Amino acid sequence: MATNQSNALSTSARRRSILVADDEPRLLRILADLLQSRGFEVTEAHGGRQACTYLNQQSFDLALLDLNMPEVDGFQVMAETRRLQPNCAVIVVSGETSFRTVSRALRRGALDYIRKPFDPEELLATVEGVLGKQSLIRAHEMVQSRLEKSEALHRYIVNSSPDIVFMLDETGHICFINNKVESLLGYQPAELCGQHFRHILDDRDVARGTYALQGPDISADNPRILEVRFKTRGSHKATRHFEVTAFPVDPQTWPQTGKTQGGCSGKPARYYGIARDVTERKEAEAFINFQAYHDLLTRLPNRALFKDRLELAITQARRSQQKLAVMFLDLDRFKVVNDTLGHAMGDRLLQAVTQRLEKCLRRGDTLSRFGGDEFTLLLPSIHGHEDVRNIARKLIQALKAPFQLGDHEVFVGVSIGISVFPEAGETMDLLIQNADIAMYHVKARGKDGYRFYTEAMSTNTANRLSLERDLRLAIERDELRVFYQPQVCSQTNRMLGLEALVRWKHPELGLLYPGDFLPLAEETGLMGKLCDRVMNQACRDVGQWIASGHPELRLAVNLSPSQVEHPRFVETLMERVKAHRFPCKNLEIEITENVIMNDLEQISQKLRDLAATGVRIAIDDFGTGYSSLNYLHRLPIHTLKVDQSFVKAIRSGDEGACIVNAIVAMAHGLKLEIVAEGVETNDQLTYLKNLGCHQVQGFYYGPARPAAEISKMLNVSDLCFANAG
Ligand code: C2E
Ligand code: CA
Ligand code: CA
Repeated sequence: MATNQSNALSTSARRRSILVADDEPRLLRILADLLQSRGFEVTEAHGGRQACTYLNQQSFDLALLDLNMPEVDGFQVMAETRRLQPNCAVIVVSGETSFRTVSRALRRGALDYIRKPFDPEELLATVEGVLGKQSLIRAHEMVQSRLEKSEALHRYIVNSSPDIVFMLDETGHICFINNKVESLLGYQPAELCGQHFRHILDDRDVARGTYALQGPDISADNPRILEVRFKTRGSHKATRHFEVTAFPVDPQTWPQTGKTQGGCSGKPARYYGIARDVTERKEAEAFINFQAYHDLLTRLPNRALFKDRLELAITQARRSQQKLAVMFLDLDRFKVVNDTLGHAMGDRLLQAVTQRLEKCLRRGDTLSRFGGDEFTLLLPSIHGHEDVRNIARKLIQALKAPFQLGDHEVFVGVSIGISVFPEAGETMDLLIQNADIAMYHVKARGKDGYRFYTEAMSTNTANRLSLERDLRLAIERDELRVFYQPQVCSQTNRMLGLEALVRWKHPELGLLYPGDFLPLAEETGLMGKLCDRVMNQACRDVGQWIASGHPELRLAVNLSPSQVEHPRFVETLMERVKAHRFPCKNLEIEITENVIMNDLEQISQKLRDLAATGVRIAIDDFGTGYSSLNYLHRLPIHTLKVDQSFVKAIRSGDEGACIVNAIVAMAHGLKLEIVAEGVETNDQLTYLKNLGCHQVQGFYYGPARPAAEISKMLNVSDLCFANAG
């Protein structure tokens, strides 16, 4: 206190100036002399009016006022003093002693009251006392105002920080938190003060967040930095991400150990920290991450993520000696939709397809968009092929119903190739590649089905690549050959027709069969050209034989799904037939039932157009597809070709034979011709004959042969096979 006072006095080391007002000149003089003798600067006012004039002109530290003065009395001067110089202290020096007057003077702001006649020492002591008090008050006010300014500055700095600034006590309760918490999370600072900071931590981060502060090594030089989620007020779902930096409060720089200023937990602050809102960065990161591993159109995992999961699944399957399956799905006729209805519709179709496929999956299966209209599906931990078969059937079934795209109703099918670990491959790449190969075997043969990969499907990758190159060359170099397999009447042994079957005379590998290269041709888009070649050659060969005395001879050609699906299929085929002057009634085209079922509307129209020209239509491999029988009588179909597998079954047991019985009976009912394929033995032939199935084809009568051999046969015999076998 003593030091404070001397400080305050010394700051006002200048001479103090005192205004003395009295209407009595003698008394005025005495007072002035007395004060001047103590070093004060004194201004004498003769009466109240003059005092007011001086108050207007110069500033005073103190005014000694008489009360009773004519014209302007002491109270009026006091009022003027308060108005003009509020910091100027007032002492009344008066002969009035009534309690009323004294108290009135004190109430109006006089700091002391000296009665006349006065004791000089007492007066001086009073003057010193009042002035001392005066400068103390002023010093205090200055400090106060400086403190307020400093506090406002710091408050401003803390509250306008872009980050949340907080202090915690040693138990983690909030001592202080700045206003930023309101704009970022919606809490009022006051409602959080005193709460444990876990109150705003997202539940998932509570353990991590509270543990972080307890580490022993946390210090000012080694602050704890961690990312946590804070809950926004009211909603427990919405969280924002923050990067929190916290360190212990250093007692050197924060000496207060009592109540923390601005704090409210009642305990001293132990930790200081800032929390920076990194939500936008986090969201951007999450999006980039999602984008890197997902297809944005269907929101399915992409190729990269699929491979990742497959790799993991293989490791697990190997460890637990389990199987897993990879499916390769390729949409049938997606390209047609994309080309005719546009990409936007194509996109919508992909999304709709995705939704239907997803409904068929089990937990833990991964469906991914591999690219374009290709999907891959990982089925971890399967028990056997039957599991996989069921899912494949479900997937195919799921896409059966039409898709409504705006005003259009479109049908797509799906071809599924399946590879099973470990038998179809032990590595990720091999499994995907082999599923892909199996898929092309489905495509090449009617589409809309599934097949398991088998060793027989594949030439190895290196061979595959060179085979692809060779196949392009083969078409240019004319290495493709057409062989003919007779279709024979079992009662008369007469040759009724010839099925054209393509062969490839490979310069190094020798004679290749369709199974070796047709899937590849489909895959590489060479199918169209290849089929053209076959068609031309067959029309030429068989056309000649027809012209040279065998007018009834029938030519059966196989058509690939892509050929039939082409919008100008009928026109193209008819142009070709006309170019060779090949009689339409002698031509039979063979298509599989799936080709028809894929796109019933379109194909039926084409088949009707075709049938109107006299061309015959056969359904190949009948009984193996997904056909419903009720379409048969609506379509202009002439022949059913019973699949080899049912004919084989005649030998091995009764069940397959039952199917043959059923097909033959049905064909008779619908007045369709019927050709049994793959007849190899006399037993089979006899069985079929007894059923009334008279047209047969198979090794029993001979394999497909080159044109030259058929020519010879036609020249020597009258189309009749001797006793074959
Ligand atoms: P597919 O239309 O079912 O043809 C019958 C297949 O069975 C032929 O095989 C034939 O050689 C074989 N085969 C005939 N008799 C017997 C028999 O008694 N026992 C056995 N085990 N097999 C017999 P290939 O020539 O290998 O043709 C396979 C498939 O390739 C054909 O099946 C057909 O779908 C397709 N294909 C052949 N040539 C062409 C073609 O020019 N164009 C198109 N698009 N596909 C063709
Ligand atoms: Ca055929
Ligand atoms: Ca067949």
